[in-house]
Amino acid sequence: MSAKNQKPHKNPHSSFNFFPPRTNLSKRGTGLSLYVVPASRCEKDVIDIRNLSLVYTLAGYEQLVNQLSVDCIDCAADASVVSAVNEGIEAAREIVPLRRPWVMISVNDNEDLHFRKAEFDPADCPPDCSRPCEVVCPANAISLVEGKSTVELPHSTRSPGALKGGVITERCYGCGRCFPVCPFDKISVVTYVRNATATTELLKRDNVDAVEIHTSGRQSAFFRELWNHLGDAIRYLRLVAVNLLDIGDSTISSMNTMYSIMELQLDCYNLWQNFSSGPRE
Ligand code: SF4
Ligand code: SF4
Repeated sequence: MSAKNQKPHKNPHSSFNFFPPRTNLSKRGTGLSLYVVPASRCEKDVIDIRNLSLVYTLAGYEQLVNQLSVDCIDCAADASVVSAVNEGIEAAREIVPLRRPWVMISVNDNEDLHFRKAEFDPADCPPDCSRPCEVVCPANAISLVEGKSTVELPHSTRSPGALKGGVITERCYGCGRCFPVCPFDKISVVTYVRNATATTELLKRDNVDAVEIHTSGRQSAFFRELWNHLGDAIRYLRLVAVNLLDIGDSTISSMNTMYSIMELQLDCYNLWQNFSSGPRE
């Protein structure tokens, strides 16, 4: 069955909204099970990502027993991360002959809170801060060291020097845990748009199966621009998922507008999901 000429409908019982084309992505009809690997690209992390993907894939073996399956592994839209995920999957399949989970990357058509990073200037932090931000970060994305102090205190001691370091951008995946713990409100949120040209090049390497497009649904021009940019690279995909903000009564008409933009090039599974804005945990 083709994805073409299928109007979207909202499932009243779920935040997932499917286009009818081959709706049951899991052969067992249990829906889409999605595993997420962290977004970092450091060399050590790439090894961890490979190993995590191996474990996720093997988890599919256990889930098969329970009539479930691992359908997708969601990872950062980065060539080294995608390669590591594929390596992990193949390593798992050498151990147990499992169905290969799809590799999914996420992109956005405009700035939104799912694509954000923390930022602060350590020079603005009080030098004697106990650095709860560093402790709470699950990705070790904040690294601070005390600089040398020039202020001498009595008894041959020195006051703490200004902090150096800060957020390691490549490691930060925008979970938001550090934002509320800063007692001095020094951490800002920086949103960004994934580079569409880099995404297109990545898809053409033919080791990504699925793309999740995050959109507010309010500005179809941004969606069209991204879609046109992806162009021929779409044909490498088996699934295009659209993750759009729940905008109430306008949601369905917005979905229809975006579907009409995609329709001509879309010849794979198509999945829709609504989300309400909020931090990613
Ligand atoms: S947003 Fe999350 S990953 Fe990024 S620095 Fe803060 S705690 Fe770490
Ligand atoms: S908690 Fe806030 S003030 Fe303290 S080191 Fe972290 S960002 Fe700076």
